[in-house]
Amino acid sequence: MKIERPAPQTIAYFSMEVALESPLPTYSGGLGVLAGDMLRSAADMRLSMVGVTLLHRKGYFLQRLDDEGRQSEEPAAWPVDQFLQLTDSTCQVEIEGRQVTVRAWQYLITGASGAVVPVFLLDTDLPSNDPYDRTLTDYLYGGDQRYRLCQEVILGVGGVRVLRAMGYTRVFRFHMNEGHAALLALELFAEEFKQMPQRREDAVDAVKRLCVFTTHTPLPAGHDQFSLDLTEHVLSGNQWEALQALGCCNGSLNMTRVGLRLSNYVNGVTKRHSEVSRTLFPDLAIGSITNGVHSATWAAPAFRALYDRYTPAWREDSLLLRYALGIPLDAIRQAHDDAKQLLIKEVNRTASAPFDPHAFTIGFARRATSYKRPDLLFYDSERLRRISVQHGPLQVIFSGKAHPRDEEGKALIQHIFRRAKELAPEVKVAYLPNYDMDLGLLLTSGADLWLNTPQPPYEASGTSGMKAAHNGVPSLSVLDGWWLEVPVEGVTGWSIGSRDNGTVFERRDDRDAEELYWKLEGTILPLYYGDPLKWAELMRFTIALNASFFNTDRMIHEYVTHAYRDR
Ligand SMILES: *Cc1c(COP(=O)(O)O)cnc(C)c1O
Repeated sequence: MKIERPAPQTIAYFSMEVALESPLPTYSGGLGVLAGDMLRSAADMRLSMVGVTLLHRKGYFLQRLDDEGRQSEEPAAWPVDQFLQLTDSTCQVEIEGRQVTVRAWQYLITGASGAVVPVFLLDTDLPSNDPYDRTLTDYLYGGDQRYRLCQEVILGVGGVRVLRAMGYTRVFRFHMNEGHAALLALELFAEEFKQMPQRREDAVDAVKRLCVFTTHTPLPAGHDQFSLDLTEHVLSGNQWEALQALGCCNGSLNMTRVGLRLSNYVNGVTKRHSEVSRTLFPDLAIGSITNGVHSATWAAPAFRALYDRYTPAWREDSLLLRYALGIPLDAIRQAHDDAKQLLIKEVNRTASAPFDPHAFTIGFARRATSYKRPDLLFYDSERLRRISVQHGPLQVIFSGKAHPRDEEGKALIQHIFRRAKELAPEVKVAYLPNYDMDLGLLLTSGADLWLNTPQPPYEASGTSGMKAAHNGVPSLSVLDGWWLEVPVEGVTGWSIGSRDNGTVFERRDDRDAEELYWKLEGTILPLYYGDPLKWAELMRFTIALNASFFNTDRMIHEYVTHAYRDR
């Protein structure tokens, strides 16, 4: 394996997490999968791009669930040198007054076109470093505020310096995927300021021309923030001064503010999320580029074969999935049956009562946290039981980790376990541990219906429904995030709630649950069991309309057009 050398006009994409391959625990969820999908599409499209992230030697965590759904966590150590190649480039960063050496491992993504996108994973586990500093690239989203801020120095400042050491001296754009990477802009500012110390605003303008910032949460509390005491303690004197001079230390250090202040192009990840972000930051122009998923990664093997046959060249251009309209319905049904068999087999390896491959199967997998409302389906379990008996049968498969410190999220998993026991045998419910990309593919391709019930407007985008669409699986989803951009009811799925609750935060579980049950019993189950041909047509529309648009090829075209262009 060779070390990739820099090309002119390279775009450097920085992200705290990147999902490279399912078993490498360098990601926790949507943000990391998006980063991986973005880089995979860049390789398909021959875009000159490099990824920068941390190594995460001990991963996010391994999830254990006991019989009552209590989650416990274990480190997810992995054999780094079996998957990555060590580069000879290093740099130093100052953390809490100590000099920390950072080295980089390389992972190569080869696209459908044969082009390669390298990803550099930063590592501080070197004998010359202080014992605390050696742990800083161990855990993704682990540790306390101090640990997190030190990690962000390594990612942002160390990332820029390592790229420079590798010869990436003329990077065309630096893209910050969420605020965790924002300190890269501070390092670029230091580079510019050194050259023109009298002209701070000119240095700022030079940095802004280079930087692109993408925000991923509509929640004010979702933005990374650090106390000023901690900031002053961790950062170098020059960095601390620069942050103050730039006006980024208003009561606390808000990483989103840093990213926004030092970027010329800022975007949210769906139209609605961008609207909400504009209300959070009314003084800024916030663009909108809707997320996507990498088509070849998220189509199940049976569907890949189908697309290879009926929409050739789709791996290089996902737009061609539009022509899925010409795939015979029988072939789609057969491919879905194959995907469903694989899922049911996986569930039945551990399920106490075997799942039925012919029963209507609902899939729900995402981070277990309050605003995602994974238990909305059980708002009235007796009603759900009646629906299954009268219109079913139906069975449900869940998956998802709760963040180790999210007690509410952990309680939600236990709640689902309790409901599962109550609802048996009329409604079978399974919860698969250790949600990862492999499970994600099994679930989004093997379910008959993909359920999504977030509390609007908290779901910035959501991407698992896009994966389902790549396998012809329709969604039943609350109108939030990407689903607001899917206009036609009954053609690629069904909606819950209204389009115009706008940017207001209001909990409405009772009404949303009512609508969920009403659509299940009145429309969805009768269609599934009563009119299989019509259902297959719906699957075909789901691919042709949604997969052809909600993919990272289209997304990258938008970044190139709006964010990376000269300005
Ligand atoms: C796609 C994916 C996610 C994100 O799904 P959302 O619908 O955006 O919540 C999280 N985790 C894994 C493992 C995934 O594959």
